[in-house]
Amino acid sequence: MKVLVATSEAVPFAKTGGLGDVCGTLPVELARLGHGVSVVMPLYRCARYVGFPIEPLGIGFIVPVGTKTVAGKLAQSFVPGSNVPVFFIQQDQYFDRDGLYTESGEDYPDNCERFVFFCRAALEAIRLLELKPDVLHCNDWQTGLIPTYLRLEYERLARYRQIATLFTIHNISYQGLFWHWDMELTGLPWKHFNWQELEFYGKLSFLKAGLVYADAINTVSPRYAEEIQTPEFGFGMEGVLRNRREVVFGVLNGIDSSVWNPATDGLIPANYDCSTFEQGKAVCKAELLRQMGLPPIAQAPVVAFVGRLIEQKGSDLLAELIRSWAPDRAVRWVVLGTGTANLEKEFINLARLWPEKVSVRIEFSEPLAHLLTAGADIFVMPSRFEPCGLSQMHALRYGTVPLVRATGGLADTIVDCTPENLAAGTANGFAFSEPTVEAFNQAMRRAEECFQNREIWRKLITVGMQQDWSWRRSAHEYSKLYEFVVRRRLNALERQCP
Ligand code: ADP
Repeated sequence: MKVLVATSEAVPFAKTGGLGDVCGTLPVELARLGHGVSVVMPLYRCARYVGFPIEPLGIGFIVPVGTKTVAGKLAQSFVPGSNVPVFFIQQDQYFDRDGLYTESGEDYPDNCERFVFFCRAALEAIRLLELKPDVLHCNDWQTGLIPTYLRLEYERLARYRQIATLFTIHNISYQGLFWHWDMELTGLPWKHFNWQELEFYGKLSFLKAGLVYADAINTVSPRYAEEIQTPEFGFGMEGVLRNRREVVFGVLNGIDSSVWNPATDGLIPANYDCSTFEQGKAVCKAELLRQMGLPPIAQAPVVAFVGRLIEQKGSDLLAELIRSWAPDRAVRWVVLGTGTANLEKEFINLARLWPEKVSVRIEFSEPLAHLLTAGADIFVMPSRFEPCGLSQMHALRYGTVPLVRATGGLADTIVDCTPENLAAGTANGFAFSEPTVEAFNQAMRRAEECFQNREIWRKLITVGMQQDWSWRRSAHEYSKLYEFVVRRRLNALERQCP
């Protein structure tokens, strides 16, 4: 099967979040399964500095953007360590900037124009590069107009007619919303600006365009696929998704097992595997406490949090919990993250109040993320919503027991340590349902108690370390989805011209 992955981010060329990880890693695994995969993305300034050659292809094109025509060029590189081509859309006025979508915390005012251009350019690239994909796999709002242009404009051309589209939602809270007059920039007739197509509460929504026009939709975990069809998690898109529920799926992301492997990880002081974790983790725990400036402790667990300090991640719940635990409980807390000014301040304050028990680093640090993941006993993720979440899978692999709010991908990966699940050998962590400090507190108390029972604790760790969270598993699921959309497209064509 030939697949073209259209994305606005792919590691190592550009990343602001999970989207970049998925679109840099999944294509390689798909290629390993025998698919002919390529990637198309904008050529941002940051991509030029990652140290991989990007060759101009000497191919130029022009596309309409509103009343203008805008010229672009194509360039090419490869996903490092693979022969998966990455085709870059070069348009320096739009993409040669410091940020991807924002600068100094503000969205670029021409984001609509930039991604209208990108969506049109990606479709032009198919023709210019003679790619002939069976599936065009679009990701997040930045690519939302691709399925729309494909059906409304390009389908007239034979080479585009058979292309099936899959649209993946990585985080539904980002919707590509623009004021209604930006509809002019799309070049699409105003008749499509209606509640069943591109209009969303008076605005133009790129995300909705993708959800309406793609042959099928998926998101990054089965639970999140269900959740986004409800008002609590759908951010207003629940109606659109419910309308299309027979083509909405969930595929859990994978983790990069070559980077996140405790047996080979060069960023941790001792390597270990499923049979040597006790010695290995003890070394890592001691080094973690040393680097974080906390006194050594064996009898109490070290609890880690790595992630963005924002409400989505429940960081405020964590701050409240630490505030109530730190005065009289022995547990140690290590926190690594950056986020909103208020939450950053709150965590710094907690570390000042209890310097023997709480240590906080407000920074983005890969080495520290690895050390916390390896050296802690418990890894907390009290997220309000979590499309997939990668850190809990990293923690499982490193024998650090996750304690999570059961939502999205966290619900799909963490099996709560109930007596039944323990007996069945499926328990690998702790989970709580309500996004409240009380529920979080109860789960922490259970975890603290279990930590004292070495036999149970060892069992939890062993179950987690033996699980397979690799991209290979996800790539198999995506293969099935690609087959599904191709069949669906063929059926639609047969219905059009029997
Ligand atoms: P999201 O994409 O919503 O931020 P995920 O759990 O899907 O959350 O992925 C977060 C990734 O970013 C994980 O690999 C995590 O280790 C990493 N990360 C988050 N914050 C930091 C930080 N401050 N330092 C290092 N790595 C971080």
